[in-house]
Amino acid sequence: MSESESGRSAERAGLYVVATPIGNLGDFSVRAQEVLRGVELIAAEDTRVSGRLLAHFGIRTPLIALHEHNERERSEDLLARLREGAAIALISDAGTPLISDPGLPLVRAARAAGIAVYAVPGPCAFVAALSVSGLPTDRFVFEGFLPSRAAARRRRLTELAAEPRTLIFYEAPHRIVDTLTDMADVFGATREAAISRELTKLHETVHAGPLGDLIAPAQAETRGEWVVVVAGRAQPPSASADIERTLEILAAELPLKQAAALTAKLTGAAKNDVYALGLRKKR
Ligand code: SAM
Repeated sequence: MSESESGRSAERAGLYVVATPIGNLGDFSVRAQEVLRGVELIAAEDTRVSGRLLAHFGIRTPLIALHEHNERERSEDLLARLREGAAIALISDAGTPLISDPGLPLVRAARAAGIAVYAVPGPCAFVAALSVSGLPTDRFVFEGFLPSRAAARRRRLTELAAEPRTLIFYEAPHRIVDTLTDMADVFGATREAAISRELTKLHETVHAGPLGDLIAPAQAETRGEWVVVVAGRAQPPSASADIERTLEILAAELPLKQAAALTAKLTGAAKNDVYALGLRKKR
């Protein structure tokens, strides 16, 4: 980074995808601030919301609106400036742009045009919620917002009921109780989950436990946006016993790799998991 004549630090040409705080202003990284000071233009979801944040940090870079209703045309204009060698940043109201937020058409257009796209990572509500949920983090699925209509929401939940990976959803305050009630119904009231509200803020709350026990606390807290993290469906014990037994029989006759591949085909389990199970048994 170098100092331009205007006294602002100048960034290399390209598009910067910059994360901003999800509540606590102390989470606005030094690098994010430097980049936003150094670019010539910031594309923001809501210029009033971002204007307040930037003013607080004394960042006076011009803002332009890029939201879901104008992002296709606006991306064309921004791309033209990027082609001329501009350094432009993309931010959203809170957290990481493109995560349930606008920006995908612009990033795709920039990539297709061979323009450098730089990540300036930072806060993201679902990562924060997952990290404090106490649920498995090795494999997870981010589902974003569920459909707002009840029938479509229940249909989507039904499609996800057998998913073995941890599930993550965003939810609005006025729908959280209905969503948790549907989840308890479709996934079962004993399925483990964690709900987080106002993360990084003064009234941050996290409730963890079986889905059926989380409806009452959500009912009591009517404000704030939520992240819902739900444990994936546990493998039924009979299924894991079948996998083990099949592998045992086949591994007695075949090399482990082949036995694992056949067991995976027969039981629908993941080949790598079966192979790892075989290695553990061998030891
Ligand atoms: N781009 C953002 C990110 O990186 O997380 C998400 C934007 S999405 C439009 C807004 C949703 O994120 C909210 O409805 C809520 O589900 C979640 N969210 C954002 N900030 C949050 C916070 N401080 N605590 C809990 N959930 C939050």
